[in-house]
Amino acid sequence: MSANITLTMIKPTAFKNNCTGKILYKITEAGFRVVAMKVTKLSKEEAMKFYEVHAGRPFYGELVDFMSSGPIVAAILEKENAVEAYRELIGATNPAEAAEGTIRKECGTNIGENAVHGSDSDENAAIEASFFFSQTERF
Ligand code: ADP
Ligand code: MG
Repeated sequence: MSANITLTMIKPTAFKNNCTGKILYKITEAGFRVVAMKVTKLSKEEAMKFYEVHAGRPFYGELVDFMSSGPIVAAILEKENAVEAYRELIGATNPAEAAEGTIRKECGTNIGENAVHGSDSDENAAIEASFFFSQTERF
């Protein structure tokens, strides 16, 4: 079953704009099961660690500052083929290029503040899930 999870975060702007309910509705409507969920806030150090694969990219500093700027929702989602299915539900990185009906199209602000995170592989989903949740916090 572990191959069938993905990790999402509702990013600070979407949380602040009260988009959490709409996003969770779209997630559950699409057939994902919530395995774990919490409201939390990343420190700058934690955001740097979460996004360390992007260290060196021109947007890394901006991304770390943004992701540590306010509360977020972190959640583990389960579904068959979860990583790919969730990437399809959230849409392209840039909300302006995301397909109609996707979470980023409907809730994203710009390419940085794009409403949600979604894991990009089963391997990273497992790493990212463990970043936020212990085994006893998963149901
Ligand atoms: P995704 O979140 O779609 O997997 P990436 O992994 O490439 O996209 O990038 C991680 C996050 O970094 C994006 O979700 C977005 O918040 C931010 N980001 C990506 N590209 C840019 C960019 N060109 N300018 C500003 N922020 C960006
Ligand atoms: Mg990514």
